[in-house]
Amino acid sequence: MTDVAVVGAGLTGSLLACFLARRGHTVTVYERRPDPRTGGAERGRSINLALSERGLDALRRLGLADRVLVDALPMRGRMIHPVAGDLDFQQYSLDGQRAINSISRGALNNALLDAAAATAGVKVLFEHRLTGLDPLVFATPSGEVKATAEVVIGADGAGSAVRGQLLGMGLLDESVDFLDYGYKELTIAPGPDGDFAMDPGALHIWPRGTSMMIALPNPDKTFTCTLFWPNGGTSSFASLGSPAAIERHFATVYPDVVPLMPDLVDDYRLNPVGLLGTVHCGPWQAVTPGGPVGLIGDAAHAIVPFYGQGANCGFEDCVVLDRVLDEAGDDFAEALPLFEARRRDDVEAIAAMALANFVEMRDKVASPVFQLGKRIEHA
Ligand code: FAD
Repeated sequence: MTDVAVVGAGLTGSLLACFLARRGHTVTVYERRPDPRTGGAERGRSINLALSERGLDALRRLGLADRVLVDALPMRGRMIHPVAGDLDFQQYSLDGQRAINSISRGALNNALLDAAAATAGVKVLFEHRLTGLDPLVFATPSGEVKATAEVVIGADGAGSAVRGQLLGMGLLDESVDFLDYGYKELTIAPGPDGDFAMDPGALHIWPRGTSMMIALPNPDKTFTCTLFWPNGGTSSFASLGSPAAIERHFATVYPDVVPLMPDLVDDYRLNPVGLLGTVHCGPWQAVTPGGPVGLIGDAAHAIVPFYGQGANCGFEDCVVLDRVLDEAGDDFAEALPLFEARRRDDVEAIAAMALANFVEMRDKVASPVFQLGKRIEHA
């Protein structure tokens, strides 16, 4: 039995805690935020996401899939919205039955936190922001707290503090390839009858070449839209400086959504533009004087969101780490390098596919070959 500190109680860290505790390890999860189960969501930050088979497989192994799918909405294909003309539904599988699932990020995180907190051997400490790795130090509302652990796993996301500490100790290299595109979230309201204003069984896409918007359904009958657009230049987020300019742009480029977005101007002006990038770093593990340290999920390999696979990959990481711990007899010093050896090629492949899918989604889905429904996405 090993005393493990997991840094970050996001999607990957919460699930990892469940997997490690099931193996008999004692796990303390340190999370910089307050408990999200007692507060609201952050404005404009990836409100929902697509959960696919890769992630569901991990959840099933802990008996969590049914619980998290209760409020999920299956999307059996993509609905292409041209500037003018008919909508085009392209199903994801030939039999039309396979689906990816639109799920609230907050509800998913809360369900995983509930599962972690209910697992014997797991303790979750909120408002603990890692500031030092060796020794382990956390900033809390009541001051600095020191902690000990035999193993530390950084599940603290794309801007990982654990990764930053390892970098500072000269134990890894990193590069972050930022895209010159950002993203902004907007909301489609329910229709006048209170029901969905568009088909909730599809992932909606407005491919516009240099820009793209997508929309995923929510259980409250709204859709969360994500607009991807360059960060600078004459056609970019920065180019819409007034309410009139925002309304004019959307009426020209996304005409069918304007009547469905009563809060368009406020959403556009108040919601932040998020960054998009790919994190490359290595090695994903090191041995510090305090013991083995590993990285998992976005902390090791954040990718751009166009393949809808970042969280799904983090979940799959947990399965692979669980498997190599089996092989290594729960010796983390042996398992963490094995995890990296098993996982790196797959993750680099999905990172490249995610970038390639941006071109496909913003451009090629509107081409004739896709209109014949010959391509399958997210298989
Ligand atoms: P995070 O979710 O970033 O969690 C990290 C946690 O660590 C957070 O709770 C954070 O507060 C905490 N933390 C950070 N620093 C510290 C610190 N110093 N000390 C303690 N705690 C700390 N993925 C999909 O699979 N499907 C999708 O459809 C999808 N859509 C996306 C859409 C957008 C617009 C974006 C941006 C991403 C999308 N993703 C999607 C990717 C997905 O959001 C990430 O891959 C996923 O959230 C990674 O989970 P994580 O737990 O590794 O990291």
